[in-house]
Amino acid sequence: MDPFVHDTNPARIVFGAGKVAALGDEVERLGCSRTLVVCTPGRTAMAEELSASLGDKRVAVCAEARMHVPLENAEIGREAARAHQADSVVSIGGGSAIGLGKAIALECDIPLICVVTTYSGSEMTAACGMVEGGRKIHYASPRIRPKAVIYDAELTVGLPVSTAGPSGFNAIAHAVGSLYSQSTTPMLRLTSLEGMRAMAGALPRIAADPGDLAARGEALYGAWLCGMAAGGGSRSIHHKLAHVVGGSFDMPHAETHTILLPHSTAYNMNHEPEAMQAIADALGAKEAPEGLHSLEQAVGTPTALKDIGMPEDGLDQAADEAMQKPYPNPRPLDRAAIRALLDNAWHGRPPARV
Ligand code: NAD
Repeated sequence: MDPFVHDTNPARIVFGAGKVAALGDEVERLGCSRTLVVCTPGRTAMAEELSASLGDKRVAVCAEARMHVPLENAEIGREAARAHQADSVVSIGGGSAIGLGKAIALECDIPLICVVTTYSGSEMTAACGMVEGGRKIHYASPRIRPKAVIYDAELTVGLPVSTAGPSGFNAIAHAVGSLYSQSTTPMLRLTSLEGMRAMAGALPRIAADPGDLAARGEALYGAWLCGMAAGGGSRSIHHKLAHVVGGSFDMPHAETHTILLPHSTAYNMNHEPEAMQAIADALGAKEAPEGLHSLEQAVGTPTALKDIGMPEDGLDQAADEAMQKPYPNPRPLDRAAIRALLDNAWHGRPPARV
């Protein structure tokens, strides 16, 4: 076995349908009594209802979460935490609400609790991106890592398939990347593959029957494991492309990951044979890129960058940016191949060995 250093520090996990009822206990367990609740504007009623049980311990609900955590929204959240002398922050929602909670926890040095309502897995990482002056800046700190995470499948039953699918693919993308990360470990490998298996099994069931509570729970289980695997490091050409396409062209985060993943996996296909076979096995497919492409079709997610608004004349710029400050990747970067990969992703073609 290759040498490794395994150094993850997982949060406390409270898992199960109806478990959001434990929110008050989790706040108390941390010795906190002044909690700021954060959410996206669309989740305001849900956040107010779910946190009502905190009573006086809830000092305010701040619905300022936005995708990619714009700095100005982070500042509003931080100001609310200071103004209300919050000693803890509770994110209720998906990666956007969790991102705002992380931004507040980082600056105000207060513990974060997450009540998770999508499948992105971001609650399991000690990292957070924030958009400052049009650029996405990445922060990593133990302060950002949530102290407790509540996974309650009942809260995700209303999550539309059109959001559930891409958020689950976002989690799978992290698990795929973690398999060939330089900092992977035997434990993270197991976590990635089991997370991927669970998510790939759950998403088509959710697409077929959005009210399937067991499948919703399986997807949250997958999100937890994929997110944990991501916490060990999962940067690759896939993540670089997702950040370039999402950041420079303002494309939706989860959909961008979804569309790019089969293509970025095909790019690395011949350089990580063991990881590729393990991914294919976890997906129940013959080959990893095709397995991911079939999963997209089974779930009905977008498969083409052109369908989410990416301009075709931006592909050259995206390929150029992907070559700058590259993330580590198993296969050396080849601009012509990356440009061809982006072309395939833009048109929504099946993944090809470029
Ligand atoms: P999201 O949090 O932006 O939510 C998408 C939409 O779904 C929002 O409008 C939200 O209000 C709505 N929604 C959420 N839960 C719902 C529910 N149960 N029912 C109905 N509607 C619901 O989406 P996301 O994909 O979870 O997160 C994307 C964000 O997460 C991005 O900003 C991305 O950068 C970040 N992210 C960070 C990490 C990390 O490790 N730091 C990892 C993955 C994603």
